[in-house]
Amino acid sequence: MQAIHQTPMMKQYFSIKADYPDAFLFYRLGDFYELFFEDAQIVAKELELTLTSKNGKNAEHPIPMCGVPHHSAGVYIEQLIEKGFNVAICEQTEDPKATKGLVKREVIQVITPGTYMSALSEKENRYLVAVTEWAGRYGVARGDVTTGESWLTTLPGEEAVKREIEGLLPNELIVESESLASLLRPIGIPLSIQTEKRSSDLADGAKDDAQRGAFELLFAYLTKTQKRSLDHLQPAVAYEVEQHMQLDANTARNLELFRSARSGERKGSLLSLLDETTTAMGGRLLKRWLEQPLYTEQSIRLRQDAVENLIDDFMLRDQLHEELKHVYDIERLVAKVGYGTANARDLVQLRDTLERMPSIRSLLLSVTSERLRQLEAKLDSFEELSELLRDALVDTPPVSTKEGGMIRQGYSAELDELLEAKTNGKTWIANLEQQERIATGIKSLKVGYNRVFGYYLEVTKANAKLLEEGRYERKQTLTNAERYITPELKEKEALILGAEEKSCTLEYDLFVALRERVKQHTKPLQQLARSLSELDVLLSLAIVAEKREYVRPNTSRHVQVDRGRHPVIETVLPRGEYVANDLTLDDTRQMLLITGPNMSGKSTYMRQFALIAILHQIGSFVPAESAELPLFDRIFTRIGAADDLVSGQSTFMVEMTETRQAVTEATEHSLILLDEIGRGTSTYDGMALAQAIVEYIASNIGAKTLFSTHYHELTVLEDTIPTLENVHVRAIEQNGRVVFLHEVHPGRADKSYGIHVAELAELPDALIERARTILSHLETDVKEDAPNNLLSPAQSNEEGSQLSLFEEEDALKERLMTMDLLAMNPIEAMQALYELQQLAKKG
Ligand code: ADP
Ligand code: MG
Repeated sequence: MQAIHQTPMMKQYFSIKADYPDAFLFYRLGDFYELFFEDAQIVAKELELTLTSKNGKNAEHPIPMCGVPHHSAGVYIEQLIEKGFNVAICEQTEDPKATKGLVKREVIQVITPGTYMSALSEKENRYLVAVTEWAGRYGVARGDVTTGESWLTTLPGEEAVKREIEGLLPNELIVESESLASLLRPIGIPLSIQTEKRSSDLADGAKDDAQRGAFELLFAYLTKTQKRSLDHLQPAVAYEVEQHMQLDANTARNLELFRSARSGERKGSLLSLLDETTTAMGGRLLKRWLEQPLYTEQSIRLRQDAVENLIDDFMLRDQLHEELKHVYDIERLVAKVGYGTANARDLVQLRDTLERMPSIRSLLLSVTSERLRQLEAKLDSFEELSELLRDALVDTPPVSTKEGGMIRQGYSAELDELLEAKTNGKTWIANLEQQERIATGIKSLKVGYNRVFGYYLEVTKANAKLLEEGRYERKQTLTNAERYITPELKEKEALILGAEEKSCTLEYDLFVALRERVKQHTKPLQQLARSLSELDVLLSLAIVAEKREYVRPNTSRHVQVDRGRHPVIETVLPRGEYVANDLTLDDTRQMLLITGPNMSGKSTYMRQFALIAILHQIGSFVPAESAELPLFDRIFTRIGAADDLVSGQSTFMVEMTETRQAVTEATEHSLILLDEIGRGTSTYDGMALAQAIVEYIASNIGAKTLFSTHYHELTVLEDTIPTLENVHVRAIEQNGRVVFLHEVHPGRADKSYGIHVAELAELPDALIERARTILSHLETDVKEDAPNNLLSPAQSNEEGSQLSLFEEEDALKERLMTMDLLAMNPIEAMQALYELQQLAKKG
């Protein structure tokens, strides 16, 4: 190999890089971070940087290289992290000026997508998730380094793990084994296999070894990559999946809980509608509530009581809202303090927040709800800390911690002395100008300063000859002026600069000590953050309920929603234009078959109900005039392939896979929404499946089910399934135009509706007439329960010509009567139906 590859520096590079094969090594070289070899090639491409060569382009073995300035490295690092890469920061760990030869270098931190501390979207958590397997069970630990929180749970099987991860969509995954890696890799999240574990008492809340193992994996990874104090990590909180309503990623997407389907943005989602939080931490908590709605009546009631309390007390609500506007993201501030990256501005934000505590506490003295009282009791004023921060820091300190200007006068006598010396020196210099102008008679004489020469006296060339010989010492000649110094000026200058350097160092030391003192309050501050976040979320729910005229729902065995509305759609329509609808479900009426023309509002009606159920279970009020709702353990939503506008690429197979999940995993406490299921295949095929699915749910599951369909034929199911009822969404014709009333009524939709629309569209009279005839035949056939209800083209509307239909019916009838329906599975039913259809076509 070329000699250049063997220089001491490159040797050092290779030995460090060997330890970090999975990260781009940002190798500090003076004012730059440099990347070499393959790292350089990839990064140059990803970030559109110029790729150069360390030893010249024409070298026999060129070393590819690219670099970014150290002071602006943050933006580049962020881009790489967001693309899913890891970055290892390799710093010079000794002062280059004080070292002879090669400077020591060390990786001080590995930044990964799940551990990146800055540039976060405020109202989202940044999750790192670790998954381990333990005796056939799976431990899942989810941590957020930016807030120090973590959660643990145990899941029974691979399918559940996959679903949990798809729902959480963490920023990064770590797993223990190749089998877990291949299970989870397809989700498309940065993933690595790690084996090292590290025990910690933070995992004491773990319910079993699977959870503990997952936390230890997570903790080891954090320790290994962050290489610094992790004192801000909070004890992990264990939860059971069954304590919550389960919402898989698919359902969250279909119901647009977190993102709008059309734009993919937060705006237009249920979350964005509910989000009246004023703090970032409240915003994050609200999202978590929505991710995991509750499943116990007691916990729901606690939240509802609090929301009601805040709705009833207008003054409290209003003033609390005002106060919370001054509350900063102390959860992340405290994490930065723990991490050692907080600056003086961060501490000022903490101080400003703490200064609000006395008034927040006094506001809460009047609360009556149990949960609000509990929160109030946990609040602390942090008077001592708040006073310390007030005394120590100026009102608006600079971002940098190295350049002084942070510490308030009176906090440190030593610092005050230095600063005074500096000020005195500056005053002396300022006076010097005046004094010398008088002494020399040169009115334009100036005192100036630059980095190279320090302080100087400046006189124009024209005036320079007026100076008495030897008065000043000449230092620099410019085109139009001469610059001079005097021994006394230099003496003062040394004093000023010395004081400045010393005061900056002293300020930094004082600041770091202050930060350490704040760090001692980590736990109570985190507790405070939790209380304030919850207060913020409850307040947000109250504000929304009040603004949108929601009511408090009751938890009950049955469903009775009076004049319910779709929470999101109603807000995009002019006030009062949304058509409210009722919904009743009970033991004898568990399933609704919803028919109605396209665009009448079937899908909206179904989703509206699911959203109301979710709002109920996060403790929110709901958009209705009154509502009684049971607790749902899970919500399944399956959207027919042809209707799946969201992805636009969903295949029939996906539709069926998802349906299988619903029919195999739903319980009698689940809610199932099936929207136009079976549309992705041919008519009979789809219809047969749709019917079989409805029957299966009715007889084997008993889940509350809303089923919308454009197959009118299915409305006969009402006669055979006792728990199923037909409803339809009405549309009418008005002044020659179709008007969608969006009203849900009992019974099935009027089938001739489509013909009506065709008529309005002025299709030829003869065609309309013919359509009416065909329809009337079809309707007769349905009544007679004949499976073949299509009229062959040859048939006219005269009596006699129907003969062939009757003949053919005999064969069909016989085949039909001999079929053993109960012994068939859906596929066989489809097959039989297909045969019947072939038989009919032959006739
Ligand atoms: P379908 O599923 O029957 O084809 P959708 O539920 O998609 O119809 O509704 C079509 C459109 O009708 C919606 O986008 C919405 O704008 C409007 N809409 C639906 N329900 C209502 C309602 N209850 N009140 C007002 N507008 C509604
Ligand atoms: Mg629809």
